Order: sequence, then structure tokens, then C-alpha cells
Amino acid sequence: MVKVVLQPIGRVKSEVLLELKGLIQDVGIECEISEKSLKLPKEAYNRVRKQFNSSKLLSLLQSIFPRESGEEKIVGIVEEDIYAEGLNFVFGEAELSGKFAIVSLARLQDVNKNLFLERALKEIIHEVGYTLGLEHCKNPLCVMHFSNCLADTDRKNYRFCKSCSSRLWCDEKYF
Ligand SMILES: [Zn+2]
Ligand SMILES: [Zn+2]
Repeated sequence: MVKVVLQPIGRVKSEVLLELKGLIQDVGIECEISEKSLKLPKEAYNRVRKQFNSSKLLSLLQSIFPRESGEEKIVGIVEEDIYAEGLNFVFGEAELSGKFAIVSLARLQDVNKNLFLERALKEIIHEVGYTLGLEHCKNPLCVMHFSNCLADTDRKNYRFCKSCSSRLWCDEKYF
């Protein structure tokens, strides 16, 4: 069974991490929060864009955690806005069939806290999906559908569609 470790990078509200942990467990995925927050690496910050480079944050995780530590997926959580080369921003980035992922909460915020948490849950599951070998799905309701904007995130479900579920190595009932 998949286990997700939420790894705060920089300042991330512990209350938000705890609520996300609960939601991830409700979906049927084991989850724990890393006790130590990592420092935001200066070299990952782009002063012109005023954003952090998501690939460099992934590299940080890759440099710290041993790749062969079980089935755990390490999901770095940042409150700062992140980008990838060629894109204005990204909600997250992950290794395909790998171990590491990054999710930014910056653009998911809303006055409605439940909406904010639900968005974060979807983006986390989306990135975990990559680490499990899934790519973007055409079904707009599937969690693996590409989110170009918040409306896409809000439209989709936090679950994998039947087709994506059937491609996962793990038992469909977990999702
Ligand atoms: Zn994606
Ligand atoms: Zn799908």
C-alpha cells in the first residue's frame, strides 16, 4: 500500500498539514508528516520571477532522502509559489514512476478553508499519481486530469478514474 510522507519545506502551517494528513488517510492512503521542516534553498529562488523553481525543490528532496526507503512517496509541501521552465507557474511537480513530488499551496488558497484543503488534496493525489506511473488523463473529472487553472482543479475529483485506477499496481479499493 502506498504511504505518503508530507515534507514541509519552509514555513507551512502545521494545522494545514494535520488536516491534509487526515484527508489523505480518508482517501485510504497511509500518511505521515515529517517532523522536521526543510529550509527553502536559496538557489531554488528566482529573484526576477519571485518564485521557486519546482525542479530544484525536487532535487533538494532527492539529495536528502534515500531513494530505496520502502514504498514511501515523499511529497514536499511549500507555501511559496513555484514554477517550472516554460510555464508561468505550476501547482506541483513529481517524478514519473518515482518517489518524490512537490506541491505548492500558494495558488490554492481560498477564504473557504474546506475548498482550499480539497484543492490541496487533489494536487497532492495528482502528484502521487505520477510517482505511481500515471500520466495525464483525458477525463476532466479524474484527479490525473491536467489543471491549467483552479477551475480545472475544482472540477475534478480527488480520486483516480476507473481507467487510471486499473493501471495502478495497488488495489483499486484503496482509491
Ligand atoms: Zn499534472
Ligand atoms: Zn484518469
